[in-house]
Amino acid sequence: MLGKLTRWLRMLGHNVKYSCKLDDAQLITIAKKERRVLLTRDLELYQQAIAKGINAFYLEGQTEAEKLAKLAQRFGIKLDIDMATSRCPKCNTRVKPILKEKASGKVWECPKCGQIYWQGAHWIKIRNTLEAAKETLKKVQDKK
Ligand SMILES: [Zn+2]
Repeated sequence: MLGKLTRWLRMLGHNVKYSCKLDDAQLITIAKKERRVLLTRDLELYQQAIAKGINAFYLEGQTEAEKLAKLAQRFGIKLDIDMATSRCPKCNTRVKPILKEKASGKVWECPKCGQIYWQGAHWIKIRNTLEAAKETLKKVQDKK
């Protein structure tokens, strides 16, 4: 349910495991074994996890920006992408810079799946979403 958010969190440098193939019991087992925070939009799963002592978070919010703001508020995650710690959105591996001629700008490669990343035109959209998330976070914090 949170595939898109998974990619965001990886870009922000977080080690995120994602699967839509696991059932609730398996998710809880993995979260416990690997001491992960369980993020879900499934209230039943959330309640089960909490009952078993798992660090779980029930994620509300409509847009990606809203969801990111909620996570930033709860876990203090930074809403800036730092390519030095960024992970491949596809496979969760740390990306590595590729040294090319200076004119081409900065390019990164995932050593595991070979995916190439660069800060091209699409980066404006990414930045806009992060800015929107920061705005949302500010509003929430101001309310307190
Ligand atoms: Zn990869």
